[in-house]
Amino acid sequence: MEKEAADPEPAWGRLPKPSYWLSQPTGPDRAPLEGGISSDFAIVGGGFTGLWSAIRLAEAVPGARIVVLEAREVGFGASGRNGGFAMTMVGRSLHDLVRKVGPAGARRVHLEMVAALGEIERFCADEAINCQLSHPGILTVSSGPEQDLRVEQDLRAARRCGLDDFREVIGPECWEMVRAHGVRRGHFEEHGLLLDPAALARGLRDAAERRGVEVFEHTPVTRLDARPYRVQLATPRGQVDSRQVLVATNAYARVVPQLRRYLFTVCAYITLSAPLSEEQWARVGWAKGMGIEDKRIMPHFHRPTADGRILWGGRDAPLLAGPPDPARDSDPRIFRRLEETFRQTFPQLSDVPLEHGWGGPVGGTVACIPHAGWLERGRVLYALGYSGHGVGPSALMAKVARDLLLGRATPLTELPLVTRRLTPLPPPPLQARMLELSQRVLQRSDDEGGASGPLARLALRLLR
Ligand SMILES: Cc1cc2nc3c(=O)[nH]c(=O)nc-3n(C[C@H](O)[C@H](O)[C@H](O)COP(=O)(O)OP(=O)(O)OC[C@H]3O[C@@H](n4cnc5c(N)ncnc54)[C@H](O)[C@@H]3O)c2cc1C
Repeated sequence: MEKEAADPEPAWGRLPKPSYWLSQPTGPDRAPLEGGISSDFAIVGGGFTGLWSAIRLAEAVPGARIVVLEAREVGFGASGRNGGFAMTMVGRSLHDLVRKVGPAGARRVHLEMVAALGEIERFCADEAINCQLSHPGILTVSSGPEQDLRVEQDLRAARRCGLDDFREVIGPECWEMVRAHGVRRGHFEEHGLLLDPAALARGLRDAAERRGVEVFEHTPVTRLDARPYRVQLATPRGQVDSRQVLVATNAYARVVPQLRRYLFTVCAYITLSAPLSEEQWARVGWAKGMGIEDKRIMPHFHRPTADGRILWGGRDAPLLAGPPDPARDSDPRIFRRLEETFRQTFPQLSDVPLEHGWGGPVGGTVACIPHAGWLERGRVLYALGYSGHGVGPSALMAKVARDLLLGRATPLTELPLVTRRLTPLPPPPLQARMLELSQRVLQRSDDEGGASGPLARLALRLLR
């Protein structure tokens, strides 16, 4: 049999770090942990979940010894590689959230998310975190009948929840906001923020340190032993003996045996254009610079960046039964498919090259709703599973984790992020097949313009 030719890498610039954002110059990394220490709270993972949690714990318990142990550098995981959309969305959509937790639960989550986005914006201003944060809102768009229906479902869900912050936008107004080919209607939410995620992660690390938190980079936790009153964490050159532990490793938590039944890895991808000239920007409009996400099941998301580029991400999202695989962080075939839809959406930018592409691992759960739960009651908590929308929700999750770790019963610990149980995946041989099949069917259905076929409906049902 003839061997298929290898897919050549696109001729784009290779990035020195796993994303454009992480490749921007920064100060030195923090030193790894050397020797043995003890702590009140040890946080494993220096992404948004770990760093926000460290900050919220330090504020709640001044004087507590809090350590963050990060395997590489802060933001190395999804937090330093994402699109930088901080949205109110938890899970797939408001409609989906209402279906899963009811209108009252969805309303509470949504209002907490609105508050969390306000807190992110204020925190960055107060702490002088220069993460190019803007507040242009998020436009969700449809480019076909099936997506029209999903826009309508969100608007109806908002009405059911008594929320008045989803504004319907019809064709001509969409076109005024951005001249994107094929866009027919949508809804607009003003709360959405755009930011540089790696700069936010580094800024959160510094803000945590100002509150007395000790951050150790290049310190992978290789073993976690829960004893009756303490938890021992092993790292290559040191150990931590801690009263309580938060596992904030998102997709990487797939290596924790108790979580393997619930968590899978979603590979997400982004491309980035060269900077546009003023004349090229004039061709697309987009004066208000809002973030845009479409209504495919595996959506596209796009936004302008502070340095005048267009970030174009989404479309294919392979689902893996195993833990994150660095070999999947770059996939020329997926970058080419992203370029294809970029060209279809902005034909007026045929002279704008795409310069960079990267990918990263996201922790997926069957219901697509993030979750905080105990591995060892009172000792080891985990908080994860944002399924592609974690920039905003991780700030809310940090407050939930704080209250759980401090043993406080608050309205936050009554949110569905805590009370709704994780749905198990099927056992291993079936798990991989189900994920592979679901992804293939959903991707094809998206590419063909809808999810109405029986196979696509089945795949969606499996991922509920
Ligand atoms: C390409 C892409 C685009 C995305 N776009 C968006 C978007 O625009 N908006 C949005 O809301 N969400 C987006 N997401 C999802 C979002 O980035 C994540 O939900 C969020 O960053 C999760 O944060 P986290 O801190 O829980 O996990 P992570 O950021 O993955 O952090 C986990 C950390 O744990 C560390 N770690 C792992 N194992 C160990 C160990 N054994 N010891 C110590 N440390 C360890 C890792 O190195 C990593 O730094 C995107 C994700 C990707 C990949």
